[in-house]
This record gives sequence, structure tokens and C-alpha cells, in this order.
Amino acid sequence: MISKRASEFTSFIVMDIMAKAEELERKGEHIIHMEVGEPDFPTPKVITDTAIESLQNNKTRYTHALGLLELRQAICDYYLKEYGVTISPDQVLVSTGTSPVLLFAMLAMLDHGDEVITSNPRYPCYQNFILAAGGKLKEIQTYPEEGFQYRHKDIKKKLSRRTKGIIINSPCNPTGIVMTEEQLKDIAQFDSQYIISDEIYHGLVYQNRAHSILEFTDKAFVINGFSKLYAMTGWRLGYLIFPKAFSAVMQRIHQNFMISANGFIQWAGIAALTKAQDDVAKMINIYDERRRYMLARLTDMGFTIHVEPTGAFYVFADGRKFFTDSYKEAFRITEEAKVGVAPGIDFGSGGEGFLRFSYATSLENIQEGLNRLERYLRKKSND
Ligand code: PMP
Repeated sequence: MISKRASEFTSFIVMDIMAKAEELERKGEHIIHMEVGEPDFPTPKVITDTAIESLQNNKTRYTHALGLLELRQAICDYYLKEYGVTISPDQVLVSTGTSPVLLFAMLAMLDHGDEVITSNPRYPCYQNFILAAGGKLKEIQTYPEEGFQYRHKDIKKKLSRRTKGIIINSPCNPTGIVMTEEQLKDIAQFDSQYIISDEIYHGLVYQNRAHSILEFTDKAFVINGFSKLYAMTGWRLGYLIFPKAFSAVMQRIHQNFMISANGFIQWAGIAALTKAQDDVAKMINIYDERRRYMLARLTDMGFTIHVEPTGAFYVFADGRKFFTDSYKEAFRITEEAKVGVAPGIDFGSGGEGFLRFSYATSLENIQEGLNRLERYLRKKSND
């Protein structure tokens, strides 16, 4: 029999939309994919070359449980250069993606019944990591007009003896919104709890810059990885930065559950951090051009964009003028307009009435996808 815990895991609806889109494709339909949060660019050549070389040089063994020292050092150097913060390699765990490190962070910090605060809407997998570690999700409603940011007083109200952590995600999936320095400082004041900062979209910022929570507190667990910035989703490489006191337990957790991340891929990770800046700059320029185009078109069509998204590769558009049930609407748009989109409800009840559009696809695809959507909406309003 399936465990009670496992039966409570919620599904990641966007993956269901993707499955529906693929089913239509198998029947010969042409679908434009704006549902997926995955770079369409190939991984930069300096990174793939390093992986191939590493394979040929037999870098095919287990590594230190926390990860290759050379990669952990490169991550420390990167955080020093980008944010001016000093961390040491014994505060870094490298694993196969950011998803597993999020689980390990929860396992390391939560006792049964401990609470973790997240916003609503938020990245949908967070709740399941918390649940898997025996924790309880405590949601705080956030509002579109305020860029879906926490209100200080709402956090204060939600804190209890059992609160262990507060999750933040900037640049944010699904909203694309980047937190300001002031907003991060405000959250850092709650560092009697751990701040869990998901920084996976760092670097993908089109105005100003993103700050790391580590600039404001060291009582933080920072999650970051290579999937998004370096177009490496399928490589599965990510990392966690944690308070020093957790070093031994993190090592023990990883030894047991993973042994180590893939050796040759970790070497490629070093190339990403140290040699791929030019490739990243090119990708950012292209994303930004797509972002501007998508924002203009969606606004023209009648969607409301409450706060301009300046990071990640998503636009979270308010479509309440057109529909109320985002789940049904996203499937209908996929089936009828042949455009995959993510329903706002995937990100929690606070996302209802919204759709998430990803611009991690070519400008031509975005143009065609939005043309199809426009025709669909026109037809819908005439029906
Ligand atoms: N956090 C956020 C906010 C994400 O959007 C994703 C990927 N969709 C992840 C974490 C997980 O990324 P990965 O496991 O590929 O590193």
C-alpha cells in the first residue's frame, strides 16, 4: 500500500501539461511550448568539451561526498566575486541538481512537525520537500500588486515555536520578479529562523542585479545550480550553501543517500563557473529581447502584468479578465490553441486566474505562440 505521506505529494501540473502537449504531438499536431522552465539553448561548448575531456581522462569515480574540492572552491570564489560574501568549501554540498539539495536541507533542519513558511503562489515542489522531511507547510498569501512579496507583518503573525525556516525565491518562478535589497534585508531580520533562499535563477537578471541573502545574514541555506544559467537542465548539477554547523551532517546525509554527484559533470561545472561568462552574456541578451516582446504582446492582448518581471524567464500574467479556472484554461489553450502554458493554480491558490508563460523558446516560437493565443482569445470572446 502506498504510504500516507507519498499519497499526499501533489503533482507538478506543468509536467501534466507537457505530457498532454507531447500526446498531441504524437498525433501529428504542432505545439508551441511556453509551459516549460527549461532553456532552449545548447549547453555552452566550453562546458561540454570539459565534460568529454573529463570522461576521456577517467574522471569517472566517486568524489568527496560534499563534492569535488575544486568545484566547491570555485563556488566559494563565485560567491565572493558576485556578492562579496566569504564562504568556505566545507559549507558547500554539490549534488545532482538543486532539487535533491533542497530535500537534504529539509532533512537536515526539520524535526517532525516543524514548520516552514512559503509564499502563495510559489514554486510547486517546495511543499513536497517539506512534507518528505516530516515538516509542515505554512503559507502566506502574497499579492500581485505588491509583486507577490511577503508582508513583514504577515510573517510575524505566522511565526510559531515550530517555525524553522522561511523560503524565498528571487528571481522568482513563477513571477520572474527580483527582490530588492530592502526586501531581502527585511527577510534577513527573521534570521532566528533559517532563511532558505532559492537562488537558481541568479544571473538571469535584465535590470540591476540580484542580491544573495548571504549578503545580509549567514543563517541561511542557499540553493543554487547550473540548470538555468548555463542551460544544463539534463546534466543534473546543483549545490547548497549551509551554515558551518551543518557540515558534518550534510556530509553524512550525502554519503548515505547519493554517495556523491557525478564526477565528470562536476569538472564541467568548474568550466561553467569560470569559462562560460561570454556564452551566458549572449543568452541573457536574447532572453531580454524575448522578455520585452512577450510583455508588450501580452499587455496588448489584455493580460495584466502587475509588476514588471526582470529576472528568470517567466511572465506571470493576470488573465482574470478572460477566465477564472486556470487549470481548465491551460489545458484548453494547449488543446485548442496548440500552445503549452502553465496554469497559475500550479503555484498555489494565490496564482489562480494567472498563466505562466516561459520565454525560454525562440522569438519566432513566441511570436507564433502568441498569435495563436490571440486568435483563440478573440474566438472565445465571440463565442
Ligand atoms: N527551484 C526552482 C525555483 C526551479 O524553477 C527549479 C527548476 N524548475 C528548481 C529549483 C530545480 O532545479 P534543478 O533540480 O534542475 O537544479
